[in-house]
Amino acid sequence: MSEFRCTRCGKDGPRLPAPPMPGPFGQRVYAEVCGPCWQAWLQHQTALINHYGLNLRDSQAKQFLTQQTEAFLFAPAAPDS
Ligand SMILES: [Zn+2]
Repeated sequence: MSEFRCTRCGKDGPRLPAPPMPGPFGQRVYAEVCGPCWQAWLQHQTALINHYGLNLRDSQAKQFLTQQTEAFLFAPAAPDS
């Protein structure tokens, strides 16, 4: 049960208490991302919502945020080369 290592930061836990959203993506986040990394994403998400003026009832905005979530949590910042 304690064999958890965050995919994003490479550290052991702490895990989220529960999947942060329904569906397979929430399960993936729960399985792979630690609490502090999720908190970092929430802060980034808030900045994005403010920057773009996103309406979370808009399906395109939700899709955009899901893509951003995936990029933030699972795609390591790679050099441009
Ligand atoms: Zn982490």
